[in-house]
This record gives sequence, structure tokens and C-alpha cells, in this order.
Amino acid sequence: TGNGLIVSFGEMLIDFVPTVSGVSLAEAPGFLKAPGGAPANVAIAVARLGGKAAFVGKLGDDEFGHMLAGILKENGVVADGITFDQGARTALAFVTLRADGEREFMFYRNPSADMLLKPEELNLELIRSAKVFHYGSISLIVEPCRSAHLKAMEVAKEAGCLLSYDPNLRLPLWSSADEARKQILSIWDKADLIKVSDVELEFLTGSDKIDDAAALSLWHPNLKLLLVTLGEKGSRYYTKNFHGSVDAFHVNTVDTTGAGDSFVGSLLSKIVDDQSILEDEARLRSVLTYSNACGAITTTKKGAIPALPNDEEVLALIRG
Ligand code: ADP
Repeated sequence: TGNGLIVSFGEMLIDFVPTVSGVSLAEAPGFLKAPGGAPANVAIAVARLGGKAAFVGKLGDDEFGHMLAGILKENGVVADGITFDQGARTALAFVTLRADGEREFMFYRNPSADMLLKPEELNLELIRSAKVFHYGSISLIVEPCRSAHLKAMEVAKEAGCLLSYDPNLRLPLWSSADEARKQILSIWDKADLIKVSDVELEFLTGSDKIDDAAALSLWHPNLKLLLVTLGEKGSRYYTKNFHGSVDAFHVNTVDTTGAGDSFVGSLLSKIVDDQSILEDEARLRSVLTYSNACGAITTTKKGAIPALPNDEEVLALIRG
């Protein structure tokens, strides 16, 4: 796990998750407050594996915002990139666990503090000191956080960071599916590394086949690595020179929340100090085996952050 800094940009929020499935949050006998937000999960995934991570984003100056900042710090994530909004409240998600195991979300974003991050509030020095800059697309939805997102990407690129993108499609947040597709693709060719899920691949290509042709239709000339995560079917990788797939681990899955964040965070922590791994298929496959193990372990416990593994747990699963 590397020494170089990985900056993860975007939102952090609290998921209110009912203790039982098949009923809405209002009808549930109880609920859990689970910290989440994909970019924050990625930062904690890196730190838990022993890497250096910072989170850049905005929280409300309220009890939830301070709780979330505390969770990042407790987990060893550099918190110098967090700003607190004096007016708006921290983002919240109200989750329904459907009987079939899928999750439905309702968001408090009216607007929430994360949406109010302004370009001039970015900690540019922190971003410039990173080796990898990771981002998701939720902050592309509205101003001013959209401009902050684009500025942070530009500054990271100028500073020579590797740009890592996970679209984190959450359709209910967008005004329409077309708008989501358009915005996600508008920043597509800026990234050096992109990770999509099978669902995102279908959505972005409009094809219901998750095959090499669909993945390669998303290729852009400056891309170094495209990853497609397939849940219990593992992951696929595509580079300019080779492509292939790596099988998943068999585990006792209880909640898949955060598996993709764990997968991508672990991968970044392995390549941050040595990007030549991206050009060497054997070494890349061994990193992806590690990342598949991280994703698998994350599905064995409820919630994202509590389920993110440390290095020992990952090595134990790989050894079998
Ligand atoms: P996302 O959260 O982006 O949809 P996935 O759910 O595909 O991502 O999970 C990311 C990775 O975690 C997968 O590529 C796989 O290696 C691992 N993983 C996810 N779900 C399971 C599962 N049920 N069993 C084993 N591994 C899993």
C-alpha cells in the first residue's frame, strides 16, 4: 500500500437504514444511522488498508456534519479539505430495503451543504499535493458544486495527478436519465482510470449486453484503465494493450453497500506509488485479485464503512 496521497472528492452523508426489509423507513420498527457517500467510503477504504487519503467536500455545520468529519478523522483520513456550510444542512439519505434486497433512496438535498461547495472554497494546496485524484459525479448535478468539481479536476490534472472516476449513478438525483448520461459523458475523456458497474455500463451504452464490445465502446484515447465490476462475477479490466477478467471470491454476502468503493479504493492504494502496474497485465491481475477480495469482504457486513477491510483480512481471504 502506497505512501502517495489519494484525494477523494465529493459528498459524505448519512444513510438512515431500516432494521428490517420490505417496509418503508416510516413503518420500520427501528433504523440505523450509517455514514456513507461513495467518495468518503473510498477515502476510508484507502486509509484502512494503510494508505494516505484525504477527503475534499462540504458538510453542514450541524451535528451530522461534525459526526461525519469525526468519522473521517478517526479512520485516519486527512480532513483539511472539508469545509462547513453555515446555512445548509448535511445531506441525508432515507433508505428503503425492498423485500428483494434492493435499496431505494430518498434524499434530503434541499439544498444540502455538499451542493453548496464553491470553487473558491477548495483546498488547492491539498489537491496539488495528491498523486491520485478520485471523484464521483453527484456534484456534477447543480451549481455551485459543479464548478467546484470541474475546478478541482483541472487543478489535479495540472499538478500531474492520476484522475480516477467512478460515475456513481444515482438516477433519482438527476432531472432525467438523459441529463445524467450527458453530464457523466461530458467529463468522460478527462479521466485516466474509470470504474463502472455492470448497471452503469448498460446505462451509459444503452446496450443490455455486458460484453467487451459494450465496454470498449466507452474507451477514450487517453484512458489508461477501464474497470467493470460485476458483483459476484468479479471484475473486468481493459487497457490499450490487454483485457481480461478476474473472478470474485465466494463469501457470505449480507449487504453489498460499499463493495465498489472498497474495490476502487484498494486499487488506487496499490497503484498510487507505481503506475507502471497499469501496463503490466500480471501485476495488474494480482492487484485486481486483492481488490476483488476487498469488495467481497465489504459485502459480508452491514453498511459500508464498518465493513471495509484492513490489509490482514484481505490477505487472509486471498490465502484461503
Ligand atoms: P458496485 O458497488 O460498483 O456495483 P460491485 O457490487 O460489482 O460494485 O462490487 C465491486 C466488487 O466487489 C466486485 O467486482 C467483486 O469483486 C466484489 N463483490 C461484490 N459483490 C460481491 C459478492 N456478492 N460476492 C463476492 N464478491 C463481490
